[in-house]
Amino acid sequence: VAGILPPSEARFTRRAGVLVVGGGAAGLCAALAARERGCDVLVIERDPEPRGTTAMSIGLIPAAPTRFQRAAGIVDRWEDLAADILAKNHNAADRDMVARICAASAPTVEWLVDRWQIPLDIAAGDHYPGHGKPRMHGTPQRSGAELMAALAAAARRAGIALLTGARATDLFSDGEGRIHGARIEAAGSSQDIACESVVLACCGFAADATLVGRHLPEIASAHVFAHHGSQGDAVRWGEVLGAALCDLDAYQSHGGFCVAAACPVPWAHILRGGIQVNATGRRFSDESRNYAERALDVLAQPGGSVWSIFDARIESALKDYAPYRAVADTGAVITAADVATLRAATGLPAALEETLRDVAEMAAGRKSDPFGRTFSSALAPPYKAVAVTGALYHTQGGLAVDGEARVQRAAGGRFPNLFAAGGAARGISGPGSSGYLAGNGLLTAVVLGRFAGEGAAAVVGEKQRVA
Ligand SMILES: Cc1cc2nc3c(=O)[nH]c(=O)nc-3n(C[C@H](O)[C@H](O)[C@H](O)COP(=O)(O)OP(=O)(O)OC[C@H]3O[C@@H](n4cnc5c(N)ncnc54)[C@H](O)[C@@H]3O)c2cc1C
Repeated sequence: VAGILPPSEARFTRRAGVLVVGGGAAGLCAALAARERGCDVLVIERDPEPRGTTAMSIGLIPAAPTRFQRAAGIVDRWEDLAADILAKNHNAADRDMVARICAASAPTVEWLVDRWQIPLDIAAGDHYPGHGKPRMHGTPQRSGAELMAALAAAARRAGIALLTGARATDLFSDGEGRIHGARIEAAGSSQDIACESVVLACCGFAADATLVGRHLPEIASAHVFAHHGSQGDAVRWGEVLGAALCDLDAYQSHGGFCVAAACPVPWAHILRGGIQVNATGRRFSDESRNYAERALDVLAQPGGSVWSIFDARIESALKDYAPYRAVADTGAVITAADVATLRAATGLPAALEETLRDVAEMAAGRKSDPFGRTFSSALAPPYKAVAVTGALYHTQGGLAVDGEARVQRAAGGRFPNLFAAGGAARGISGPGSSGYLAGNGLLTAVVLGRFAGEGAAAVVGEKQRVA
């Protein structure tokens, strides 16, 4: 369990300027930013490879206005991105933080591409619900694993030290809340590492059943598709240090998790016209509204499982997505030449035929959807179907940080040399399950990560100037 120890107990054997705990997108962006400022940076990662939740994700980062959007003819503004994020959480997120993060979104994506050769481009074909414009940026395979491989390669080229298979178990903090270093456990032994500043980039607590039960009881029984490293270490350290912890009941879930493939079906299958039906063969809500809070809708259906139904036209677009190919490769996606075959393969009742007819009528403008969805095309044979359920992905609450990603105290003020980013920090989704706008996760990982690295480097610089 993550603990806080007095510096007098430390036996430092190694020293770093900036110590980054966690090697996901937030940690590596922080490391790159600090390294760019000339710091000696050490990243501690508990896994053998830096992957984290980021490598499980589709790796799509919202940003505006980028030159990639402009090249695709998309006119956008960061103010509109900020407005969309705040509209989703009904203005419950910290407005100043949202503005600061969104204003830095395009420069950060372009920094990743230009400075660090991360191969990001605009996913112009995927217009995520709640976003006024297409503004997701991803790697060619639309894969978080590909994003992490590129970030790790950039970190290596930059000369960032990466200690893998090593878990930070304790922080050394004095009475002023200054962090002097961390205790690391690796290969059965422990080592104390001193530092000038610390970035907590160890994500949230979705993989810790105790914290999930305490803060997210409504989703506690769902399938958990979170990275096993999301054990709540940042929250636990923050509690003992007296840090401000906010929105701990906020999370991202997903209503399209394929248990058979142990992988989510990218939500693009819905965005491009797919539907979900429950065991009665009927739709039960507006699927296109938002995938993030949809897990609860799906889990409320009989058996907690539903069918995602789409067609070959939609599947041809999904083949750009590595996670979709991963689902399809397991054989979990059914192909049916007509509705009768689709019913036989899924076991769905005759109402399915009526549901598909209704969708065609709605697409033709002859009917309106009782759930309020607008269809631009009908589903046509050959049909595709995959059984999915709701899953918990990651948490959105955490350590409250200021505009420099510096951790704030519950009693007011901020810690002198402690920073947090990504899932370790309070997100921009507000409280609860419904405030998450697609992309909020990686947006705060890369942008706050960069802020945290810059801030942590500035602390090292101040100290060197004093010395
Ligand atoms: C299936 C899925 C799809 C998603 N798709 C998207 C998407 O398309 N767009 C989007 O914006 N968001 C998406 N998200 C959310 C997004 O992936 C996360 O918000 C983001 O990756 C968090 O980044 P991070 O760096 O904070 O955490 P992580 O990537 O989880 O990195 C944290 C790292 O810290 C390590 N660690 C933890 N504790 C310690 C410790 N004590 N010592 C050492 N190391 C430690 C962990 O092992 C881990 O590697 C998705 C999430 C999932 C699960």
